[in-house]
Amino acid sequence: MDVRVAIIGAGPSAFYGAAALFACKDHNIRVDMFDRLAAPFGLVRYGVAPDHPKIKSVTNLYEKTAADPRFRYFGAVDFGRDLRLADLRALYDMIFFATGAQSDRNLGIPGENLAGSMSATEFVAWYNGHPDYVNLNPNLDIEGAVVVGVGNVAMDVARILAKSVDELAGTDIADHALEALRKSRVKDIWVLGRRGPAQAKFTNTEIKEFGHLAVADPVVKAEELELDPESAAECEKDRLVKQNVEILRGYLDRGAGSKQRRVHFRFLVSPVEITGNGKVEQVRIERNRLEAGNAVGKGEFETVNAGMILRSVGYKGVPLPDVPFDPKKAIIPNDGGRVKDGSGAVVPGLYVAGWAKRGPTGVIGTNKKDAEETVALMLQDAGKTKAGGSGDVADLLKQRGVRFIDWQGWKKIDAAEVARGKAQNRPRVKLVGLDEMRAVAG
Ligand code: NAP
Repeated sequence: MDVRVAIIGAGPSAFYGAAALFACKDHNIRVDMFDRLAAPFGLVRYGVAPDHPKIKSVTNLYEKTAADPRFRYFGAVDFGRDLRLADLRALYDMIFFATGAQSDRNLGIPGENLAGSMSATEFVAWYNGHPDYVNLNPNLDIEGAVVVGVGNVAMDVARILAKSVDELAGTDIADHALEALRKSRVKDIWVLGRRGPAQAKFTNTEIKEFGHLAVADPVVKAEELELDPESAAECEKDRLVKQNVEILRGYLDRGAGSKQRRVHFRFLVSPVEITGNGKVEQVRIERNRLEAGNAVGKGEFETVNAGMILRSVGYKGVPLPDVPFDPKKAIIPNDGGRVKDGSGAVVPGLYVAGWAKRGPTGVIGTNKKDAEETVALMLQDAGKTKAGGSGDVADLLKQRGVRFIDWQGWKKIDAAEVARGKAQNRPRVKLVGLDEMRAVAG
């Protein structure tokens, strides 16, 4: 049976979904993949830290999927603006959403709107050359920066702020970010965990990296690494939790160190207010204790001088036009990947995978199993939902004057980026602007 599938998004879940569909031998499945941005790979290109190139090599697998003759790519096509759900319903038997979680959560504290207060999501997108954040221009003419949250994203942004330009110059970090970081005067970075070290979400490798930075020392406080009985029991149960705590304890012996920068890992503290004259100047924090695993304020406060605060407390999904959305969970409501409407009924022909399906958890590889689960349901449903009309989306887009970038165009952009990188001993120098990308893609 011929099955035409539209995949919205071109990040990891989208490519794992396409690969799983192509692996099906029972049907002739064709996949058209759409992304709002010109370049594919979503979070791998615009989320993964530039100094973690190994994680990015997963794109080699995605390239193989894209080389399948049944695959087509439509970059720089905005779902909801250039194409609506009804357009896709007319052309495709099934629509698979892999749109991730594009926004972030707020802290909900006074002063959060001051200049210098932003989400880690924005900061990450800026240093990774995401076209929407080129003009973020974070002020790095400051001595203190606060990072709220102790997940791996918090580790990424703290590390990028802590590293020297020499450590970053050989990566694919965006040129505008490298230039700004070159002028950075940041000396102290405070990473704030509202609970204890045993509840931290970062992984062993990520926290360990702070012991090996060229110009920054990790700093911890002995009293904040003490564990209550529940946390101690958690350490005994979970080897990775125990290692996190041991790595942090290892930082105790180093004192404040002699390097020009310090990364202070603080635990059992929450920011309660950001103050300053039109911009972030101070962050007031409250000490916490753990009560049944939750952070509870102790009514003891201190103030940190900082010109920047990056909230790294989790990504958040955003609604797509005409597509069901659960505002509480910030996901597309679904049953194993089959999209459900507000009444809980399955919407025939609509599917979801990745962060848009389960929320912003897990590493890139987690999305493989997740996408495969959705595809298994799609294969069960194959033939039950048929496109309402016929025709080719390429014609429709051309009629509408949408100048999409196809896979060949992307490969030209990719080659140009790699060639520029070669000259500078870097894996690539990213093109950022859509006009420049279009010019290269032809
Ligand atoms: P995350 O792992 O869920 O961490 C979020 C952090 O924010 C937690 O420490 C959480 O503390 C804290 N938090 C939430 N609300 C808060 C509040 N109101 N006040 C203070 N702290 C608050 O999320 P993430 O760091 O954004 O990462 C998302 C996913 O991507 C994770 O699965 C992560 O492992 C993955 N990732 C992986 C890598 C890598 O492999 N190198 C790199 C980046 C991201 P509580 O625990 O107390 O809620």
